[in-house]
Amino acid sequence: MSHDEPMGNFVTRDAPAYEGILQCMRCGFCLPTCPTYALTGRERSSPRGRVALARAVAENRLEFTPAVKEEAFFCLDCRACTTACPSGVHAGEIMEACRSQVHEVFPTTGLAGGLRRFILGKMVPSPELLETSMIPARLYQKLGIQWLMRHSGLLKLAPRWMEKAEGMLPPLQAPLRTQLPEIVPARGEKRGRVAFFLGCVMTLLYAEVSRQTVRVLAHQGFEVITPKQQKCCGAPHMNEGDPETARSLARHNLDLFLDLDVDAIVTDCAGCGAVLKDYEEMLEGRADHARLALFREKVRDISEFLVEVGLRTEDLRSLDLSVTYHEPCHLCHAQGISTQPRKILKAIPGVELREMKESSWCCGSAATFGLKFTEESQQILDRKLANVAATGADALVTANPGCHLQLAWGLRQAGMEQPVLHLMEVLGKALPE
Ligand code: SF4
Ligand code: SF4
Repeated sequence: MSHDEPMGNFVTRDAPAYEGILQCMRCGFCLPTCPTYALTGRERSSPRGRVALARAVAENRLEFTPAVKEEAFFCLDCRACTTACPSGVHAGEIMEACRSQVHEVFPTTGLAGGLRRFILGKMVPSPELLETSMIPARLYQKLGIQWLMRHSGLLKLAPRWMEKAEGMLPPLQAPLRTQLPEIVPARGEKRGRVAFFLGCVMTLLYAEVSRQTVRVLAHQGFEVITPKQQKCCGAPHMNEGDPETARSLARHNLDLFLDLDVDAIVTDCAGCGAVLKDYEEMLEGRADHARLALFREKVRDISEFLVEVGLRTEDLRSLDLSVTYHEPCHLCHAQGISTQPRKILKAIPGVELREMKESSWCCGSAATFGLKFTEESQQILDRKLANVAATGADALVTANPGCHLQLAWGLRQAGMEQPVLHLMEVLGKALPE
């Protein structure tokens, strides 16, 4: 979706590809699917309007103005517009490419710039540094400071984004990457060998989900390899306009995982899966094409993989649980995976799936959108919570850590009691010991 040639008022590196921009025929089919257009009613905050802005910049009719910058970050990159577009326009990815332009045209300087460079360039690419960075947060919870902060009302004095970020923090466990055995044997008759891509947010914030995914895979007859040297998939970098670091992470993971003799590379994080499947495009012309194609062929979301190989259900226990399913944008829109999680839920004895209205409408999390645009994010979340409440289901199921954080926080704020569970946590509950 991006280009290295100079183009109009875009700077040279990583500009959105002009051919992609030209594909928009301005039909407007995308408009009803766009959460930011639904909120604002503003053409420039719609997929069509955003593509028109990018086109004007590419054709020298518009400078890369602060308004273009704002739209680049105001887009949730939820990709709902791509699902709806008859012309295959990727407005979200065009805006993602515009974010890298933002940092060329309006570079962040001083302390904020240094912090940004450290977090994206040093901390996130290093699993060790990332894990170390969570120690203060774990101490904050363990020593009771969190309890004190939440009950003293002090958080109300903090900026809204900070109060929200604190409120979203789930109970933290020790990092999983170093604890998880590198090889977990298959149980029962062996059906194959897979590699597990952990994903940083999932393993740092929802270690139990990753544990259940490995348990499910082993129970389904797969030997699971979890290489400890794996790094972030690059999603935060693509999201924050740092494609260069994303590419270096992609190269690392590509080499690491292709060296393993596995049938598939499986992830339980929708955001990671979408980016891993994009490596082929991200590294096009920068890595061996056959290796990129082989990597792409092997990457699977866990639900996609289990349905493809055939879910073994003989010894699953009955759960007596009604659930509703929120589709992560990066699963349904970016990867086209919509039926598989439902098939798994319906295959678990005792689970009743109650469909919610607008299950594939974004929850308002969208990486850092939920913290940058707290008001708008809340409005998008309220729409989702109303649809959840209408189902009366016991639990809300999803498959992405960003959605998980936002939905769990939203339910708590709204005084709703449903827990949020990852699909693999539901399946894990049904497994025999
Ligand atoms: S992005 Fe697609 S759906 Fe939207 S106006 Fe352009 S061509 Fe039509
Ligand atoms: S990616 Fe989502 S928020 Fe962005 S233009 Fe498309 S529908 Fe709207």
